[in-house]
Formats: sequence, structure tokens, C-alpha cells
Amino acid sequence: MRWKGRRVSTNVEDRRGGGAKAGGISILGLIVAFVAWKFFGVDPQQAYQATQAVTNSQSSQQASAPQNLTAEQKEVGDFVGTILADTEDTWTPIFQQLGSTYQPPRLVLFNGVVRSGCGTAQAAMGPFYCPADQKVYIDTSFFRDMRQQMGISGEKNQTELSRQDQAGDFAQAYVIAHEVGHHIQNLLGISGQVQQARAQVNQTQGNQLSVRLELQADCFAGIWANKNHQRTQFLEQGDIEEAMDAAKKIGDDYLQRRATGQVVPDSFTHGTSEQRMHWFQVGLKSGDVNQCNTFA
Ligand SMILES: [Zn+2]
Repeated sequence: MRWKGRRVSTNVEDRRGGGAKAGGISILGLIVAFVAWKFFGVDPQQAYQATQAVTNSQSSQQASAPQNLTAEQKEVGDFVGTILADTEDTWTPIFQQLGSTYQPPRLVLFNGVVRSGCGTAQAAMGPFYCPADQKVYIDTSFFRDMRQQMGISGEKNQTELSRQDQAGDFAQAYVIAHEVGHHIQNLLGISGQVQQARAQVNQTQGNQLSVRLELQADCFAGIWANKNHQRTQFLEQGDIEEAMDAAKKIGDDYLQRRATGQVVPDSFTHGTSEQRMHWFQVGLKSGDVNQCNTFA
């Protein structure tokens, strides 16, 4: 997959810890706190918290990356920012055609734990979209785990991959595009309708609605792949297979079989591997939002 050299989105909030902080304590904050205590008689603890509050509010407004990231971490930030920009450039014209304006989501990169508009989230939960604050949350260690634990990688084809390419990068881009798909559903009012409908049905029927919502996000990810390829020719040989492999390995049946050795269809919330691959393909081949009616 080609991704370098394209626009990087300014809607990334990088909350990954940089090397400037030691155990969450910023050196600058400590100095300010000490000076405040020494000269103004302010409790250092309070002064420190005040400087932290300022630092935090600044960092949430700026799209700049934290200091002292490794080259690899910076590259992950650039990658995520480029894919997010790709989704913006895909959905803006589509919304224009629908007679509306696309409001892009912000994407939060974090390490370990993050506070979101939907509560505190752990990295172990995987990437998610929070409708309350309209942000996509991604712990970048998920990408690493995704490659290692789920065996999603282009290892077999490594020699065929271009120099810029990383194993599994298209599968990672697909995950971002899927989460942005949930944002699209939010903007179009689909998630709100599904939430209302879920309140009136039993657990099994509620799960089926969740599955349809997830499959539609997969279809929207397919639309992104279609439109973005028309625009940038970013797909390379093996990329679609890579996304199909990823879709297969995040199907509920696959995950359940792996975890427990059996499959309980009523508890599915994301759809089977077969369904996920199918709907991604529908979006990819058609590039048409109207084809993504997974509720029909
Ligand atoms: Zn989803």
C-alpha cells in the first residue's frame, strides 16, 4: 500500500506519552510549581496541577505530536494522519453530493488508558468510535498486537512489498476506515435510529442490529478503499487479500472459535468472517453508499 507523500490530517490528537514526561510528571510543570511556591507561597501541588491543566488543554487543541517520540512512533503518527486525511478527502465530496457538509471526526492516538466522551477506555478494548465526542480512539499498540496475535501480516509476500510498505499496513488502514465508518453512521443519523430500535427488542435481536451496524461500517470502509484508489492509486498487489484476511480474522465466529472452540451465533455483535468480507467487497466494488444498506 502506498501512503507516503500525501496530505496528513490536522485532526489527529496525539496523546501518546513522549519522553519529556517521567511517570506523568513534566519537568517544566515541576519548575513552575517550585517557583510559584518559593515566590508566591502557592502550594506546589496545586500549582503543578494548574500548569498540567494548561498543558492538557493546549495539547487537546493542537494537532502536534508529543516531543521525543521515536522514529517508529512518528511514522505511526504520520501513517494514521495520512489515512485519516484520505477518509476526509473521500467523504467530503460524497457528503457534498448528498447536499450536506462533511464534519470530519478527530482521531486520538493514545498509550494504555484514555479518557473519552464515552468513559475511560483501555487499550485492550481495541479501537473504537465515541459518538458523544465524535472522536476515533486508537491505541497504537493495537496495530502491533493485531499483527502478532492475529497473524495479520504480509510476511509471505514481504519480498514483493515495496520498500515503503510495512507488513499489514492496509489491514491497519482498514481498521481506521471502519471506525470512521461509524462516524459516518453517526452523521447520517443511522446509529441513533439503531440505538432507539435496540431499546425496544430483546438481547438477541439487539445483537443482530449491532451486527448490521458493524457490517455497514465495513461497507463504508470498502467505499473509502474504492474512492481513495481512484484518487491516489494507493492499492498495491496483495492489499485487498490482506484486508480480507483481516476481516476474516475479526469475524465473531472466528474469534469465538479461537477463544472457546465453539460458535454462538446469537451473541455475535460484529458479524461472521464471511459477512464482514462480503460487505467490505460490496463497498469496494460499488463505491456507492446506497449499496451499503445492511438493514434491508
Ligand atoms: Zn465497529
